[in-house]
This record gives sequence, structure tokens and C-alpha cells, in this order.
Amino acid sequence: GSTIGIVGGGQLGRMLAIAAAQLGFRSHIYAPEASGPAAEVAAWWTRGGYDDAEALARFAAQCAVVTYEFENLPANALAALPRLRPPVRALEIAQDRAQEKRFAAEQGLATAPWRPVDSRAELDAALAAIGAPAILKTRRFGYDGKGQARLASPADADAAWAAIDGQPAVLEGLVRFEAEFSVILARGPDGASAAWPPPTNRHEDGILARSEVPPGGIVAAQAEAAIGHVRRMADALDYCGVLAVEFFAGADGPIFNEMAPRVHNSGHWTIEGAVVSQFENHIRAICGLPLGSTALTGAGVTMDNLIGDQALAWDAILAEGDAHLHLYGKTIRPGRKMGHVTRVRR
Ligand code: ATP
Ligand code: MG
Ligand code: MG
Repeated sequence: GSTIGIVGGGQLGRMLAIAAAQLGFRSHIYAPEASGPAAEVAAWWTRGGYDDAEALARFAAQCAVVTYEFENLPANALAALPRLRPPVRALEIAQDRAQEKRFAAEQGLATAPWRPVDSRAELDAALAAIGAPAILKTRRFGYDGKGQARLASPADADAAWAAIDGQPAVLEGLVRFEAEFSVILARGPDGASAAWPPPTNRHEDGILARSEVPPGGIVAAQAEAAIGHVRRMADALDYCGVLAVEFFAGADGPIFNEMAPRVHNSGHWTIEGAVVSQFENHIRAICGLPLGSTALTGAGVTMDNLIGDQALAWDAILAEGDAHLHLYGKTIRPGRKMGHVTRVRR
């Protein structure tokens, strides 16, 4: 079997490597850490900096194809790599909140009202334009609600600016959504694509808590339109692999929140809850193999993240008998994604 290169060694790399192994491929991880959740399932692990273009090139030379499992990577170092999928342009857009909103709007998607904010004065101008309540988000490096500050009124501007350390940011108007959901779509090099039923997502403290399919109510009503939007985005990027886009279900239709050029936490339920998982279809896509069915394996599926101490309940989850426990092998820290549990309703 050929070798698949994966930049990043976290839990997404782990689940990609498991799917790759099932298809007869070996995985080679490239990451700055000495080890990580992907270590025990990957055939090789090369330790190197994400900005070390020479080391990345040596790693890529040993792989039939190279993919990545998180988006905060220096695009210029990756741009030089041969056989990189998804394309580096998708990475560049997705790692910058201003660029991703511009791109989404170009593709005809609605976004929350927003303004780029590069200085304290621009924050005042943005607040005057958008009004409060609003959210100030760093343009780069944010995840799990980190790098964000909420403003209930313009009086919160100083505190919000201090909270994000004056980093380049965007100010977004607060969307009064009825639900949140995500579209997860796989696209092959031939342009064929397949989307899973969009999960309805619930967040707690900025972190994904639960994803649930099939969608009901307003999410079901907006699913087809949202999938069409994501397919258009993927086509525009000549995308290859799995693309995830988070939406707010607004009263007037789906509103783009953010995109990830990779497998996504809200798609973890597909391992047991879909005929072919997001991880397997990502591997299939980047290897130019036919995509598999995204149909549900049961009547309904829930995926609950195990955050911090919640992972200590692993024994009770196993005792249920038909719950699927996934632990990522990480040391427990508050707010850290330790694992997840998937329950398929037959
Ligand atoms: P992720 O871990 O999904 O990458 P993130 O740190 O990039 O998270 P966002 O997706 O931008 O953060 O925001 C986290 C959550 O905060 C959203 O899922 C939503 O619940 C809420 N939120 C973010 N932006 C807005 C907004 N403009 N209006 C209302 N709620 C919002
Ligand atoms: Mg994000
Ligand atoms: Mg998000």
C-alpha cells in the first residue's frame, strides 16, 4: 500500500489514519510535537516545524499524497508541496475569518454583518456600523471559542480589545439564530461530491457539545440550500477532500459562520452513523478513489463530545453496551476535547 502524509498529529489525524489503514494505506504524520493522538495508529511520525519548508518537502517526497488535519499552518510552506490535498488556496481562505467571509459572500452566501478590525479606532468604527451586541474574533488561530470577546454594548470595546490582545480581528453582529448546523461534503478530483445529512449542532461555552442527525425543523428545511452553497464553494476551489461549513439557521435562510478545509468534529458521528465516514471519504477523495455512501445506518444518531472531566465517565458509557466510545489518549485538561461517544438509534 501507498503512504498517506498527514500534517498534524491530533485526534483528526488519528481517525484519518485509522480509516487509511482500513483501506490498506499507511500513514506518515508530520508534526512539531514528539507524539500525539495519531501516534499509535500511524506507521511513521516525523517531528518537524510547520514552517520548515525543507523538512516538509523531505516528508512529502516519501508520501503518495499529503493532507492536513488542521488549518493553522503557514500556507507558503505548504504551497510548495507536490500532491497536497485539499488545495492550499482552501487553507489560505479558511485560516482567515475576513477572507473566508469575503469568499462565502462571493459565492452567494449570507454572512453576519461584519467589518475587519486592525486597530482600536477601527473597532469603534465597526461598532458604529454594525451596532451591539456583537462579537470580536481574531482573524486567525481561534478555535473552541478562543480568541473571541462578546460586546453587549459599545462600552465593552476596551475590554474586548484587551481580551484579544489587539490582534487583527473581525467584528461580527450577533446572529439571532434558531439553530446551528454544519454541512460536511466530500469532493473527489473528478468533481464528484457527496454530502452527509447536515448535523444540528449545540455548543456550550463556545465548544461543540452535541451533533445530531437527521436534522429536523428549520435545519431540515435549510439543508438542501446549504448543501448547494457548499458544493458551489467546493467547485470554485476545485476542492479535493472533505470540506466542512458551519451555518446558523436564520429566519431567512442559512447564514455562513465559518469553514474548515478538513474533517470536522461535527462529522464524527459518521464513523458508526453513516455507511461511509467522513474520514474514509476524505482518504478516498485525496487518493482519487470513488466516494462512498453518506446515508445513515440507523434512524438517528447523536455524537456527544467528552470535554475534560466528562471523559471520566467512560466506564458508564461502555456499560451501555451499544454506545460507541472514542478516546483520543490525551491528558485531561479543563475544556479539552478528550473523546466522543456516538449512539445510533435503530
Ligand atoms: P470552532 O471550534 O467551531 O472552530 P471557533 O472558535 O472558530 O469554533 P465560532 O464558530 O466562530 O468559533 O463561534 C463559536 C460559537 O459561538 C458558534 O458556534 C456560535 O454558537 C457562537 N457564535 C459565533 N459567532 C456568532 C455570531 N456572529 N452570532 C451568534 N453566535 C455566534
Ligand atoms: Mg473555527
Ligand atoms: Mg465554529
